[in-house]
Amino acid sequence: MLDPTHLMTASPHVLRQTKIIFTLGPATASEEMLEKLIRGGADVARLNMAHANHEWTRTMVRRIRRISQQVGREIAIMMDIKGPEIRTGDVDAPIELKAGEEFDFTVRPGGEPGQSPEEIRSVGVNYENLVNDISVGDIVLVDNGLMRFEVMDKIDNRRIRCKVLIAGQLSSRRHINLPGVKVNLPAFTEKDRRDTLVGIEEGIDFVALSFVREAGDITTLREFLLENDSKARIIAKIEDQSAIQNLDEIIHACDALMVARGDLGIECPLEDLPVIQRRALKACFDRGRAVIIATHMLESMIESPVPTRAEITDVANAVYEEADCVMLSGETTIGKYPWESVEILDRIARRIEEEGDVVFEDPALLEGEKINVLKSAVMLANQIPNSSLLTFTRRGFIATSLAALRPAHAPIFAMTNSVTTLRQMRLLRAVNPYVMPLTSDPNDTIENAIRLLKREGLVAAGAKLIVVTDILSNDRLVDSVQLRTVR
Ligand code: PEP
Repeated sequence: MLDPTHLMTASPHVLRQTKIIFTLGPATASEEMLEKLIRGGADVARLNMAHANHEWTRTMVRRIRRISQQVGREIAIMMDIKGPEIRTGDVDAPIELKAGEEFDFTVRPGGEPGQSPEEIRSVGVNYENLVNDISVGDIVLVDNGLMRFEVMDKIDNRRIRCKVLIAGQLSSRRHINLPGVKVNLPAFTEKDRRDTLVGIEEGIDFVALSFVREAGDITTLREFLLENDSKARIIAKIEDQSAIQNLDEIIHACDALMVARGDLGIECPLEDLPVIQRRALKACFDRGRAVIIATHMLESMIESPVPTRAEITDVANAVYEEADCVMLSGETTIGKYPWESVEILDRIARRIEEEGDVVFEDPALLEGEKINVLKSAVMLANQIPNSSLLTFTRRGFIATSLAALRPAHAPIFAMTNSVTTLRQMRLLRAVNPYVMPLTSDPNDTIENAIRLLKREGLVAAGAKLIVVTDILSNDRLVDSVQLRTVR
């Protein structure tokens, strides 16, 4: 097993570019495990609000902050809010459903079953507009796609009759997906509001919005964050066909995108999933947005200490495609091997990054004078073997853009005076953030940064640094790209 400290002391040219997100759960909540993960190179902890209550959320955020400080490595915290959810109501006992039989879904605010003729069984649904929004021939998927129904008839304005296509056992409060149906539910629910307020109070770094369908959903959350003085950044989770149709406007509106393959794989044809993933990655790359590939990356490691060969290749594919982050869910919430899962992601990412395949050409939509300066810095870094990029950033803009330009090998050392910015930069591919004072004298700041990097063992005498910063010229600050050799 890897020594958990080795990721921190590695030389710059073995620093991992791809970032690792792990979801918190019973398997990772202990102080010992968190310390191991934070020391060992995990970058972002995710709180899944579908399962977390407020007390646990507050405890976990505070625990992570405390351990990060003790360890001297701040990681970011993402609050993943649940978003609109359609589900079945309670049933007295699990209902066995056979292929071919008829079954009713009845709209009830609390989800309890309505009146069906004696011979036809039914379950309640908590979605008021179900009958309006659905069409005969549409598919209803229950329990993460395990059971499949086809809509045969709209009986009245509260009831649909379906045929069971894939049989199963229906128990209480199961998740429903309606592939291709434009669902009219609020993007940011009352529960989301309450959860987000707790997140804001605890100072979380990212809010991930589930089931984003259009850019307006993100605007609603952004206004809420602004009204409540939060600097948290927004991650848009794309999980259904509406999100795919509106992908470009969603990417434009968000700070980062999550390809949430769990629900996407239910809402879209399975064979479309790799196509959607690649399209989302390319679109994010063009716009300079960070992108996360999530779900089932090492699913078998919930039970097994080694992943399947197909999972290894899936993770490798995300790294080849130059995703900013890969994410673990069940592997680190309830899995038996949470640390080993992070370790395996780390090993695969490093190995594939060594190959250095660059898939995309150049971000099409990043333009402007500043970007041209950054492009020249990245070009220089790509031409000078074993070089590193060094930059200074208050809100993370330069680091975000440098990461978006995908330097082939050079790590990006991003110095900031803000811990909030540092944590938010944990999401960015190849960015290694550090906190230090940014003085008014750019030269002093550069010298201090180099001293810090040497102290941390990240650069040594003779190392080439491409420094992207402002310099004073005739009392004016101008953009500069400098090549410095560490003394
Ligand atoms: C997903 O569906 O892939 C996902 C990440 O969302 P959740 O875990 O909230 O279902």
